[in-house]
Amino acid sequence: MPAAVAGPEIERLIQLLARLPGLGPRSARRAALHLIKKRELLMAPLASALQVAMDKIQVCGVCGNIDTQNPCTVCTDTRRDQSIIVAVADVADLWALERAHAVSARYHVLGGTLSPLDGVGPQDLAIDSLVSRAHDGAVKEVILALNATVDGQTTAHYITDLLHNANVKVTRLAHGVPVGGELDYLDEGTLSAAMRQRTLF
Ligand code: ZN
Repeated sequence: MPAAVAGPEIERLIQLLARLPGLGPRSARRAALHLIKKRELLMAPLASALQVAMDKIQVCGVCGNIDTQNPCTVCTDTRRDQSIIVAVADVADLWALERAHAVSARYHVLGGTLSPLDGVGPQDLAIDSLVSRAHDGAVKEVILALNATVDGQTTAHYITDLLHNANVKVTRLAHGVPVGGELDYLDEGTLSAAMRQRTLF
C-alpha cells in the first residue's frame, strides 16, 4: 500500500471516486484534485446535486426506470407511442436508447438477463410484470432490446415463449454492420447475422 499523500478526508474522497466505473486509483486521484481545485465551481454544486438526487431518487413502479418521480418521466409522457414496450436489461440501456432517440415508446427494465451460471433465474427479473403489461389491450408490440450475448438471447427466447398468448408482436434488435463499420474488421458471427438479416435497398 503506498503512503498516503493527503489527510484522511481527501484519501476517503479518492477511495470513493476510485469505485466509480471507468475510474482507477490513478484517475480517481486526478478527479479528486480537479474537484478540490474547482471547489466553488464544481465540488459544491456536485455535492448538492448528489444530496438532492439521494433524497429524491425512486424506482418507477411501472417500468423500473430510475427517476425523481414515480411513475417516471418516460411513463407519464403521453406523446410516446403507448402501443410499444421496449424491454431492456438495465436502466443504462434505456438511457442509451433515449440518447440515440431510437424510439418514442415506453420501456420495461428487466433488471438483468437470465444467467444460469450466475444463478439468475426468471424470478430474479421483472419478467412477470412485463408479461402482464403486454396483456394490456393498448400494447401491440414488445421490442426485446437485449444484448447480443448468449444470456441476452436466452432471455429473449424465454420472454418470447411467455408472450405466446399475448396479442402482441414480439420483435428484437437487428444484428449487423455497425454504422461506419468496415466489413473486413467484423467478426464472422456479426457478418453472417448481417447477411441473414439483409434488408431491401
Ligand atoms: Zn416508468
